[in-house]
This record gives sequence, structure tokens and C-alpha cells, in this order.
Amino acid sequence: MKLILLGAPGAGKGTQSARISEKYNIPAIATGDILRAAIKEGTELGKSAKSYIDAGKLVPDEVVIGIIREKLASDSCRNGFILDGFPRSIPQAEALDQMGVAMDAVLSLEVPDEKIIERMSGRRVCHCGASYHVVYLPPMQTGICDKCGNKLYIRDDDAEETVRKRLETYHAQTEPLKAYYAKKGILITVEGQEEVADTTRAVFSALASVE
Ligand code: AMP
Repeated sequence: MKLILLGAPGAGKGTQSARISEKYNIPAIATGDILRAAIKEGTELGKSAKSYIDAGKLVPDEVVIGIIREKLASDSCRNGFILDGFPRSIPQAEALDQMGVAMDAVLSLEVPDEKIIERMSGRRVCHCGASYHVVYLPPMQTGICDKCGNKLYIRDDDAEETVRKRLETYHAQTEPLKAYYAKKGILITVEGQEEVADTTRAVFSALASVE
């Protein structure tokens, strides 16, 4: 299964991609996680990406395309993968096509902007990639990751003003991908639900038609 997860920031892509990854036993590749890890390590990639991320803008296409090209060439992606947060622009989608990667489905998680803004204020994340919500998906122990035991933190770019900017970026640059993939006949849309488990059920039932 080769899958793309589309959706606004905070629509639940990371949470759902972790569940899909577990069910289908395929790796989830999240460009946002890769960039944040690079910032934490202080690499050249991290230094060049930070100002874009902090401003709620997209990191330049050639940077993320390079990351994805390298990842998809690795052995772990041979039986399929989920792309979470890539592509985020038409040039990125075209680059993926040019790599000769035929996607099976593009799943778009639909959540209204106002809901996103409300959700983002409660988001807590871990450096291992796990994501929680203080009300909708709390960890077993407050502030601690269930998966690795590390302390959870609030992403700098989850500040309300930056979220609004990221939503603007999403509508202008990423949302046109829905038409791009609808034209190829592989777009599936799923409404994000109040309860995470309900969204997962809807996602799995949508994917059952792809298997
Ligand atoms: P995310 O964790 O997916 O919300 O990504 C966080 C930030 O990383 C985004 O707001 C962008 O600045 C950057 N980013 C992640 N993926 C991409 C991508 N495919 N293209 C450009 N920028 C990206």
C-alpha cells in the first residue's frame, strides 16, 4: 500500500498515519518530523528549515523532495509506505510522479479551520513522533509519552498566530493537490470526527476499498 495523507495542519494526519502504519505494517514518513529532528540536531538542513517552519511557511520544494527521494529508495519502503505531510505543493507532487512512484490512494482528512484552531491549542507532541491531545487523546500519564516515556512538549509553530498562517499556506499551496489527485482517480476524502477512534474507523473502511 502506497498512501498519501493530505489534510490541514492538525487535521490528525500524524495520529491516523501511526494507526495505518501499525495495521498495514508499512512505515510512515513524516517530513515535519524529519525537519524537526534536523533542527534539534542542529544540522545544516535544520538550520535552513527553521525560519520557514517558524513563519508557518513551506520549506523550499527541492529540500523536501531530496529528503523523500532518499527515504523512498531505502529497503524499508519496498512493501509500501505512508507519506504524512508530503507532497504539500503541486511541484512536490510532480516530483513524486517523476520518481516513478505510483500511489494507490490519497486520503484527505477534512476538518474545518475553526476546529483546527481549537484542537491545536491542546496538542502535545513527543520527539519520537507521537502526538497527543489534552482532551481528545491524553497520554496515560500527564505530560509523558506512552510510547517512549519522554516528556511531551508544545510545538513552537502551534501558537495560534502561526497556526492561522499555516492554514493559509495549506489552502493556497496544498489544497490544490486534492484536484490534482482527484483527476488521477485516487482521491478519497474522510471527515475528521470528534473522537479519534471514529476517524480511524472511517479511515480503515475507506482504505478497505483500496486493498
Ligand atoms: P508538519 O509536522 O507536517 O505540520 O510540518 C511542520 C512544518 O514543516 C510545516 O509547517 C512546514 O514548514 C514544514 N514542512 C513539512 N513538510 C513539508 C513539505 N512537504 N513541504 C514543505 N514544508 C514542509
